[in-house]
Amino acid sequence: MPIRVLDSRVVSQIAAGEVVERPASVVKELVENSLDASSSQVSIEVKGGGVNLIRVADNGVGIPRAELEFAFERYATSKIDVLDDLEAISTLGFRGEALPSIAAVAEVEVVTCAAGEQAGSYLSLRDGAAVGRGSRGHSLGTTVTVKNLFRRVPARLKFLKSLATENSHIASVVSQYALAFPEVRFILFVEGRVGLRSPGSGQLVDSVTEVYGLDVARNMLAIGCEPASIPRVMGMVSTPAVNRSGRSYLSFFVNRRWITSRLLARAVDDAYSGLLMQGRHPVAIIDISLQPGELDVNIHPTKTEVKFRNERIVFAAVQRAVRRTLVEQMPVPGIREPAAAYLSPEPGRGTGTVATGGGDAITTSEEPSLTPAASLPVLRVLGQLLASYIIAEGPDGLYLIDQHAAHERVLFEEVRRQRSQQEMEVQGLLEPATFEVTPRQEEVVRANYQHLAEFGFSIEPFGDRTCLVRAVPALLYNKDWVGMLRELLDSLSGEGGGGGEEKVAASIACHSAVRAGQTLSYEEMRQLVRELEQAAMPNTCPHGRPTMIHLGLAQLEKEFGRRL
Ligand code: ADP
Ligand code: MG
Repeated sequence: MPIRVLDSRVVSQIAAGEVVERPASVVKELVENSLDASSSQVSIEVKGGGVNLIRVADNGVGIPRAELEFAFERYATSKIDVLDDLEAISTLGFRGEALPSIAAVAEVEVVTCAAGEQAGSYLSLRDGAAVGRGSRGHSLGTTVTVKNLFRRVPARLKFLKSLATENSHIASVVSQYALAFPEVRFILFVEGRVGLRSPGSGQLVDSVTEVYGLDVARNMLAIGCEPASIPRVMGMVSTPAVNRSGRSYLSFFVNRRWITSRLLARAVDDAYSGLLMQGRHPVAIIDISLQPGELDVNIHPTKTEVKFRNERIVFAAVQRAVRRTLVEQMPVPGIREPAAAYLSPEPGRGTGTVATGGGDAITTSEEPSLTPAASLPVLRVLGQLLASYIIAEGPDGLYLIDQHAAHERVLFEEVRRQRSQQEMEVQGLLEPATFEVTPRQEEVVRANYQHLAEFGFSIEPFGDRTCLVRAVPALLYNKDWVGMLRELLDSLSGEGGGGGEEKVAASIACHSAVRAGQTLSYEEMRQLVRELEQAAMPNTCPHGRPTMIHLGLAQLEKEFGRRL
């Protein structure tokens, strides 16, 4: 094909693709515009996962009638003028790309009324071009309605996930802005239901209550404000008692812009070191203010990543502010790090370090396979080590079995068996329990209701950020099924795709298995080892970690110098 300049419609669709990746991106851009317009109330309504309808209505300054059409021109913005302004951006938008990009991939209608105008005006667009304009009543503010998103861009449409997944992304965007702007009243309607309603009281703790529930809010500490500190770090962090398996409960705002930042996530995790177990993360809302010149926000079309002029200073400020808050305000001494592992080979590799009680380390660099063959020989239990490992003897040497990982494997296979034969053992709760969920989790519950029921959970949305639980799998009765459900809902909300059943089974197994640190009787250890011998895949837990380490006879002889 000869080289030619692309048709303008193609160009605008390519550009739109950078800004509008999915329905949640539209919600984000429209909400940002409402916030830039100094609104104190923003209402968001979505239908069909945002594909059929997105409507964002605000009570901000409105768009003057004379400028309405101009707002849809590419790079048209009221927010910056000359290049120098780029250095000092204090608004969320500035690229002038959102409205034209959205109009390029959807049907858009805007009704608005600016201060000092007698009547409101409206404009409707198809394929980025105006098709209707005129007067229409509207109170001070702006309502933007977006319909049939991506209908003309089938390739995009195809890449969207399930309705529930798109809704959960939308709920997550609105949740973040509710946390960033506690003084603004947000209300989100998802498929006709209220998904989130923040009071706009100006108190961050109220937004936290709305988004994460009362239990979390009660355990949040306000970051102590050091007036002299530059940059200034404010917000709230959870006590170590509230912790999660993922980093999705860490929210960062820089000059009130919601950003993602691995650097800052690391700074927060650092501040909790020694207080949380490996792989656990707190809930945190971190609000950083710095001179606009210290920051480049113009590195990404969706503006979710920023570049700090001096990363080290920002990292240190966040780490220090959080650490100080924890040290000064934490009610109880934190959890200590778990005891160091006695034997810690790299999983799946033939080398490892044996740390002896005296502190000497022997490196086993030979070829011995530390994980035994697929089927287990019959083992004789000798005892328990550190209340966490079972020591056993087999025909070919010593076995150290991680009791939690081993039990997880056994239960995982049992849950899958019960599930496939449709005979999950279910335990009804004496009284239905309420369970607080985030807006995002609520969408996941709705989407996975049937799925959860098949595993023995009777759970239903109960309104007001809560679900009602009437029954749980029998294995989890008297266990921390609340923690289990919360983690599960978070891991399911990520992607709609496959693997859901495995995740549920693994999660039930993990939370009902014996813990490390739990003393077991000889009989209990025998029972567990017997069950492990019968497992189909005894060598790894459902997450792929080894359940045991094998020290073969040949290796023992070599280590003790009996054989060269
Ligand atoms: P940007 O936000 O980068 O300036 P947009 O395409 O998002 O670009 O919006 C273009 C312009 O339209 C904005 O600069 C602003 O003047 C106006 N505008 C958009 N939405 C609103 C709103 N909700 N209230 C008031 N003005 C708005
Ligand atoms: Mg904008």
